[in-house]
Amino acid sequence: MSAMTDTLKKHQKHLNDTLTDNEKRRSIIQKLMWDEKKKIECNSYSTSANYLQRNSVPKKYRTYHEINITPIGRNNLCRQNSTNTLSFDSSYEIESGYNITSCPCSSFICFEPHFVNSRMENGKKVYYDFTKDFDGETKKCFIYDEEIDYMRETKQLWNEKIFQIRVRKCSCGIVFSK
Ligand SMILES: [Zn+2]
Repeated sequence: MSAMTDTLKKHQKHLNDTLTDNEKRRSIIQKLMWDEKKKIECNSYSTSANYLQRNSVPKKYRTYHEINITPIGRNNLCRQNSTNTLSFDSSYEIESGYNITSCPCSSFICFEPHFVNSRMENGKKVYYDFTKDFDGETKKCFIYDEEIDYMRETKQLWNEKIFQIRVRKCSCGIVFSK
């Protein structure tokens, strides 16, 4: 990453300072668990935004936004990072929805609840993802979802909203568990 601007440095500090110790601990543990899992299942792939082909995605989700990650917020804390971004700069809004990834042949598609930010710049809505990816991804394929937004507002747990679909026979021959 190129030299961080002062604004980004301040934003990063704000995101870190507004987390509780428990949240920080959870972020670290989730990364350690993932790294360990990858070591054990050394022949397994994980799905990636980089594999996703837009025309594989069901029409309903095809208008997803590709967002380059600005990795200043801790991994696995996208809800906190997007919320705390508002108290750093109130020109941002929270966007609730799904992060879409796929297997290398883009047949097996995963949807995970995810939270990013947006703001109007020169009359256009621009999306930002301030959460570092736990698997080193550098971009996210994100689509807004009303139900996830409602769940965030009403503080419901959205963990079980993860889902996967198979749009055609997968030629990668791998079993996914991400
Ligand atoms: Zn595949």
